[in-house]
Amino acid sequence: MEKDSLKVSTVKNEFVDLRLLHREENGVLRDNMSNRRVIIFSCSAYRAMCDSLYDQFQSGAGVILYRMGEGYGRKLVKGVPQLGMSKEEIVDALGKLAHVAGWGKLTINISENSNGDAVLEDSPFTLRRNDIGPTTCHFMSGVLVGGASELFGMEYKAQEVKCASRDESKVCRFAIHTKKSD
Ligand SMILES: [Zn+2]
Repeated sequence: MEKDSLKVSTVKNEFVDLRLLHREENGVLRDNMSNRRVIIFSCSAYRAMCDSLYDQFQSGAGVILYRMGEGYGRKLVKGVPQLGMSKEEIVDALGKLAHVAGWGKLTINISENSNGDAVLEDSPFTLRRNDIGPTTCHFMSGVLVGGASELFGMEYKAQEVKCASRDESKVCRFAIHTKKSD
């Protein structure tokens, strides 16, 4: 698939096609947009991995998840074909990619040199443990930080300010700060 087609289809929201993947004979799965190898990874497996991290590292697990998300977010932005796209269009495309990837409904409000925020409905990263704080989507906070830092070429921080793990709204809210605003 041509790289330009990702731009067109994400911006116009035309790829609601569920045939996202193809399987090669040797058991390798690739996505049909970028041809990158992917794996199917259940949300319960993600939570089980997080449980192991928390059992071992307690609150340090949140830092590990945040840093993992940061790397993921940087890679995500690098992977979006950016030719001819404004930064606003790239932010919009990332929200649509998250939707396609099953991350829930992600809305990001951010522009260059300013603080921003994000809302994620039906996050797959929500954890329900009694021994961690009121917010649990540290991986997603990291994704937002990595993505923003990569896209705008400056350092950001992100913090989840409200997590669906603590109420029934199914909505997680994140604040994204430029480090200069500290
Ligand atoms: Zn959350």
